[in-house]
Amino acid sequence: MEIQIKADLLGNNEDQALINRTRYNQHGVFCINVMGSPGAGKTTLLERTIDMLKDKISIAVIEGDIYTAKDAERIEAHGIPVVQINTEGACHLDAPMVNKVLDRFELEKLDLMIVENVGNLVCPVEFNTGEHIKVAVLSIIEGDDKPLKYPLIFRESEAVVLNKVDLAPFCDADIEQMKQDLRSINPNINIFSVSCRTGEGLEAWSQWLLSETNKPR
Ligand code: MG
Ligand code: ZN
Repeated sequence: MEIQIKADLLGNNEDQALINRTRYNQHGVFCINVMGSPGAGKTTLLERTIDMLKDKISIAVIEGDIYTAKDAERIEAHGIPVVQINTEGACHLDAPMVNKVLDRFELEKLDLMIVENVGNLVCPVEFNTGEHIKVAVLSIIEGDDKPLKYPLIFRESEAVVLNKVDLAPFCDADIEQMKQDLRSINPNINIFSVSCRTGEGLEAWSQWLLSETNKPR
């Protein structure tokens, strides 16, 4: 019975996700769903990425958070449209939540919509919000065992940003092992080793995102 309920919920979510995806496509908007643990550096990565790309493409952000608007305030300071979704306890975004805020954007003027999901390595990946691709952010200080312990998010993601690589001398994470494990889970995954603090690796990441945004689809 419980499995049936879950299947129905996901079924409705998939219908709504398709509606969201169609709206993005109608307006030529590329949408990414950024997922990762609390503290992985999702918002900081967005801030750096926005600064690098906002003169080249038109970007907007949907921020998912359980209670606060702290991340949306940080994004707003970079001068791009942002809408906060407070999930009031829910540990992930779903397609109906995203649908409710899409009218608050001028989609016809956008090239890239970035959805920052609720900080959580587990269930956001199970809820399609209508995005074109998923991107995982994993900081090396979370531990090099995380890819194998939480494989689904990495299997479903087109890219993983391995953040905080500047901290490698201060933690025991084996970055090469992390990359090897990520590729064993998803041989096609694009891996970007970055430090949002020093800027290392951000050029390669932002160039890749720019080329994905500009791909005809
Ligand atoms: Mg955040
Ligand atoms: Zn959840």
